[in-house]
Amino acid sequence: MGKLRFYFILFFSCASLGIAAMAGDPSQNISFVYPEATDAVRVYNRQRELLQVSRPIISALVIICLLQTGILGKIRDFTDQFSGAFLMRTFLFFLALLSILFAADLPASLYVNFYLEHLMGLSNQSIPDFALERFKYLAIQAALSIFLLPVAALVRSQQKYWSISIWLVLATLAAVLIFIKPILIDPLFNKFNDIPEAQSSQSLRKRIEELCLKAELDKPKVFVVDRSKQSKRVNAYVTGIAGSTRIVLYDTLIKSLPEDEVLMVVAHEIGHYKFKHIYIGMLFSILGALPALLSAEFILVPFLPNLPKRWGIRTKSDPLFFAFVIALLQISDPLLSPIECAVAKYIETEADDEALRLFPAPLTAAKLFARLSQIDMADPNPPAIIEFWLYTHPSINHRIERALKHSTS
Ligand SMILES: [Zn+2]
Repeated sequence: MGKLRFYFILFFSCASLGIAAMAGDPSQNISFVYPEATDAVRVYNRQRELLQVSRPIISALVIICLLQTGILGKIRDFTDQFSGAFLMRTFLFFLALLSILFAADLPASLYVNFYLEHLMGLSNQSIPDFALERFKYLAIQAALSIFLLPVAALVRSQQKYWSISIWLVLATLAAVLIFIKPILIDPLFNKFNDIPEAQSSQSLRKRIEELCLKAELDKPKVFVVDRSKQSKRVNAYVTGIAGSTRIVLYDTLIKSLPEDEVLMVVAHEIGHYKFKHIYIGMLFSILGALPALLSAEFILVPFLPNLPKRWGIRTKSDPLFFAFVIALLQISDPLLSPIECAVAKYIETEADDEALRLFPAPLTAAKLFARLSQIDMADPNPPAIIEFWLYTHPSINHRIERALKHSTS
């Protein structure tokens, strides 16, 4: 299923805010030295962005090439031999396609997630650990592709309006997946603990409780994840829905930031929690899937006879047709990115503002943003077109600028 838009809601991650009680006069004019990227950091970021855009396009091209050369058709014919049952044949084909796409993406994945991360001193992973993590992702994707089978069955059995039925199935599955992810999937990669009992953390816990009180929230679940075994990056996020909703802080965040800055990060996450941003993200993705599915039924299927004969796509329930749809979805990934990023930026700005309301320390926030960009090797001031197209958060310098405006408002 590749990196469908649903990833947006499956892992609602956010690099958060900054620090603590500056106790300054809100009307004071704060001067702040904005961070600047070194050449190495700029090159690192541009490479990551280039790969972010090109990886789904490469996956799509791989599928098109396999269709054009007839290889995918041969794979379908091969998997057809194993079982007469339509769903079993479709599942085997999905597994084969998933493995091919995984292999095709491996060089780029190795480069961006292993080589570049080590080059910039951001990764703690050994090659075996990295390989194990990738294979776990593959196994989870393979297991999740079982969920595509009801979709395949609906396409096959329903003559008209199957797109609506599929949409309802996918919406339900998305909600279920978001619910189970923090409980069943995330623990396969990391351990999630309570905030450590160390003396300094006692006050952190108390201060988090005070923030929640101020935000008029019942105590949300807050966990610390042992991300330091993989990475030196600092981050926090809100995940899950209904009973599985939780705030997760990286252990690197608690270890490497002053307590006030950690608290500002938590305040930002409380903003996401309070405004139910996970649900907005989920709704956005689910609503976005509807025009895609309607287009598949009412534009793509009638267009089937015009596709190259050598591709060998027979009907709308042919696994080769699903492969073609996956290729189109991969191409749409970078094309739709600005829309997704605009929604994400709106949400992040709302969380930043709420954090400063709960914890009115603009200079602390500014210092935190600067520190985050330094630790995570982010480009604090990327080209405007890249920020517009690919950034899920406003750039660091825009966040600093907005935070400091709070000191004068
Ligand atoms: Zn956020």
